[in-house]
Amino acid sequence: MNKPRVGIPRVDLPADARLDTLAVREGLPPSQYGENAEALYLTSSFVHPDAATAARRFANEEEAFVYSRFSNPTVTMMERRLAALEGTSGCIGTSSGMAAITLLILGLLKSGDHVVCSQSVFGSTIKLFQDFARFGVETSFVSQTDVAAWKAALRPTTRLLFAETPTNPLTEVCDIAALAEVARSGGALLAVDNCFCSPALQQPVKLGADIVIHSGTKYLDGQGRVIAGAVCAPQALIDSQLMPVMRSAGMSLSPFNAWVVLKGMETLAIRMQAQSARALQIAQWLEAQPAVERVHYPGLPSHPQHALAMAQQSGVGGAVLSFTVKGERAGAWAVSDATRICSITSNLGDTKTTLTHPSTTSHGRLSEAQRQAAGILQGTLRLAVGLEDVEDLKNDLHAGLSKIA
Ligand SMILES: *Cc1c(COP(=O)(O)O)cnc(C)c1O
Repeated sequence: MNKPRVGIPRVDLPADARLDTLAVREGLPPSQYGENAEALYLTSSFVHPDAATAARRFANEEEAFVYSRFSNPTVTMMERRLAALEGTSGCIGTSSGMAAITLLILGLLKSGDHVVCSQSVFGSTIKLFQDFARFGVETSFVSQTDVAAWKAALRPTTRLLFAETPTNPLTEVCDIAALAEVARSGGALLAVDNCFCSPALQQPVKLGADIVIHSGTKYLDGQGRVIAGAVCAPQALIDSQLMPVMRSAGMSLSPFNAWVVLKGMETLAIRMQAQSARALQIAQWLEAQPAVERVHYPGLPSHPQHALAMAQQSGVGGAVLSFTVKGERAGAWAVSDATRICSITSNLGDTKTTLTHPSTTSHGRLSEAQRQAAGILQGTLRLAVGLEDVEDLKNDLHAGLSKIA
């Protein structure tokens, strides 16, 4: 049913307010106390003035905050702000990025339905889609960059195309507009995991995607503090298909984590620009290092989808790059172990630069054959560039690279 959207007020903003303004201002009006910073509402439930009002609110006849498993003012502020940045009419916060994808699957799909997914998406995403085969939802994994392969994988039962761009860790870029066309031709929806670029650089819905998935854990928080996620989608789809699952299954975003992400979004655009600028400098420098066999970075002309990436990502390569060093696993581990600044951790999107060996960590649950298919080699390292001084970061990487050249 269509919820009346009148009970919860909106911030009074000009209709043509631009992204930088929405990133700081969209949310909810302040409470009666007039706080300037957004309030953190740590409460499980909300009190109703009388029994009849409570009944109306539980029946969805009146929009109001009821119970924090599915509605909380701080979470709503985060959802409205992220929806504004992504250009969707709705957004629903989730306890993690993976919970967002789980919510999407449970809300949209049923036994007998078919999904087409890039074979290069986040490792846990591949695992999750494979797990849903037990419930009769089958997934075909196709090449990230081969649009014809996506089209060929369509079946009459295909309901969802799932893409992530650029991918983790090799930064392969897919053509969102072309995949949206394939989805439309097959009567399916296109969902794009927009973790790596964030809406500061790329808005998939503007390119024709229907749904945007986020791990708020990454650039939206931006400082490596919380686990969070979200699905950005048309409000009607959220109301009819996702909210009922949230109410019953409860993969809810905690108000505290929502608040951290909400405040993180205020600096998202300037962080993405600054971290991407550093990433470009490091990528260029790595390409010239004798111990480095290959650098994967969309901002480099050597990247196979460089032109597409520049057109799709506001002319910016993003803050994540990967590189393959000589000496296989031993070479990669030597570079990791010689660093004193970079954090050896699988998270990304932090102001602290993180260095990961994907084949033994984030992608360790895949078979070697699956990793080879995705192009992730034993010598490959992923660097998610933070806000440290670029020269310090180069020196940090050079310590290990100089030993294996
Ligand atoms: C981290 C990540 C996820 C999962 O997010 P969590 O918040 O860790 O559950 C999904 N997709 C991509 C691209 C990611 O980097």
